[in-house]
Amino acid sequence: IARRNRATSRPKFSSTSLALQYFDMNYGTDLGDLWPSVRIGMLSEQKYGALINNFSNTGDVMTTLQVQGAHDFVYNGALAWEEKQKTTQDHLQSEEHPLRSSTTSETQEAALPPSLSTNIKCFVFPKGDISRFKSARPDGSGMLGYYLLDAASMLPVLALDVQEGHNVLDLCAAPGGKTLALLQTQAIRHLAVNDSSVSRTARLRRVLHSYVPREHLTEDRVRITSFDGRRWGELERDTYDRVLVDVPCTTDRHSLQEEDNNVFSRVRAKERQRLPLLQIQLLLAGLEATRPGGEVVYSTCTLSPLQNECVVEQALELAQERGVSAQVQDLRPLAHVFRDTFHFLPTPRLGELVLPHLTANFGPIYLCKLRRTS
Ligand code: SAM
Repeated sequence: IARRNRATSRPKFSSTSLALQYFDMNYGTDLGDLWPSVRIGMLSEQKYGALINNFSNTGDVMTTLQVQGAHDFVYNGALAWEEKQKTTQDHLQSEEHPLRSSTTSETQEAALPPSLSTNIKCFVFPKGDISRFKSARPDGSGMLGYYLLDAASMLPVLALDVQEGHNVLDLCAAPGGKTLALLQTQAIRHLAVNDSSVSRTARLRRVLHSYVPREHLTEDRVRITSFDGRRWGELERDTYDRVLVDVPCTTDRHSLQEEDNNVFSRVRAKERQRLPLLQIQLLLAGLEATRPGGEVVYSTCTLSPLQNECVVEQALELAQERGVSAQVQDLRPLAHVFRDTFHFLPTPRLGELVLPHLTANFGPIYLCKLRRTS
């Protein structure tokens, strides 16, 4: 009997294989012919980017990375952006440019300001090169030279388009990769950093203190909290110039590779099913916290349309009912300038999606930018 009980209590499938079954069933349909290549990318080793820490000795760090064969993809994108601007102007004088469709307005095209791109530096190895970065070492003043992350996770921060003097909210911030990138701009007047998990917020604090000198982390510059982000609309309505809503999701790559803390484990089934609702509530709160005219970027690391486009659509509808209107911004120019680094879904319905690929194994990262109109 004891043996039979042990056998029945043992899970039939591991969480990672449950995730794979679920993805095969759903993404096979969503992505069609693209799915086999995305699938093999997600099952293979992920590629990293090195976010340069401007508070460390950047000259030495960047030279070392360049010698190893890596390059700053943000800088390269900024060059491509300038080139595109020039060509667009030339083409406009003669004919319709392919990127300027009749629905793409002038303001929507300004998705990547060169001012931001010069402050955020993220090194990657070229397409097809699977070299790995070594762990960063502290410099003479104790600051680490770079932070390793999925390079595609810089896209939501770049899309946020932070400008000098902005008041910014990072609603779901831990462990802090995007917060760190936001701080690299050194343009933000006040940054509110929040994550509902107390332990993850503690980890975020440790990350910030390893990269940013204390004088840049004073209360008047950076405020770190552990509130439920869903309540932000009640706490600080119509306040921020920019809000990043980087929500909890099925973290597809992690779910395929790690048994630990896997959202596809049977005991977490309810939590997983409730994710889209939580995501809608967080985006709604983010929209409410933004001032009219301000901008929100919604992002996930899943391929699931139910957690991506559908969440944006639902949140926009609910926001409208609460007297908050917002418009989706065109991110095609941003995807265009970074097309040499990332594989984007060719025809996204709303927002942009970075697809994992063996030659550029970043992502998945979904991002959608919204501008509050009233
Ligand atoms: N932005 C982070 C980064 O770049 O390192 C990653 C954020 S992670 C995808 C999502 C985070 O949302 C988790 O740290 C989780 O603790 C947090 N979270 C979950 N529910 C939340 C809520 N109701 N309010 C605020 N944060 C929440």
